[in-house]
Amino acid sequence: VPTVSVFGVSVSKWSMADTVEHLAQAVASGSPHHVITANPIMMMAAIENPEYKKMMQTAELIVPDGTGLVWAARKGGEPVAERVPGFDLLHELMKRGDRGGWRVYLLGSAREVIEEASCRLKNQYPGVLIVGCRDGYFGPDQDDEVIRDIVNAAPHLLFVARGADTQEPWIAKHKKTLGVPVMMGVGGSFDVISG
Ligand code: UDP
Repeated sequence: VPTVSVFGVSVSKWSMADTVEHLAQAVASGSPHHVITANPIMMMAAIENPEYKKMMQTAELIVPDGTGLVWAARKGGEPVAERVPGFDLLHELMKRGDRGGWRVYLLGSAREVIEEASCRLKNQYPGVLIVGCRDGYFGPDQDDEVIRDIVNAAPHLLFVARGADTQEPWIAKHKKTLGVPVMMGVGGSFDVISG
């Protein structure tokens, strides 16, 4: 992956199309990828908290979600191709999954939100198999149960919406056990999708 270092975090220079292609290959190979769609809040967290930064550095792919990172990369003389917003990447991956018959697990947000988002995504991408869906309000004592359900569902994509301070460390901590080809934090995306 061609990257540019922004505050010690390696951000991918790829376009949306190249990113989707790369992740489709991850799905084909089955090797786990933690994808972080980096925004200013995460970059601030990385600058202020060495542990958060270390966690980010373990991600297989970090894409520039917003204009701030695109600007910083250009300013540093190593421009990225374009913004790769998490919300758009979610839809591009669903589009790709619609053609490929991919299995998708949705985790996070309130129960009504995730159920409505699941219905809408099913209608929009009928070729995708939504193999599991659960809300994001659970504690560490329920991690094992949540992870077991995901592993049993064997998805190609796992979208996690629990807020940036929780979702990324949670994916990083459990990614080996989860073993999903593409695991990505999506913040407030399900709230938007559910209307
Ligand atoms: N969320 C969740 N569990 C939590 C905290 C948040 O499922 O313990 C969900 C919340 O319902 C929302 C999404 O995570 O759908 C993003 O939350 P928020 O906007 O508060 O987080 P931010 O992205 O601002 O960090």
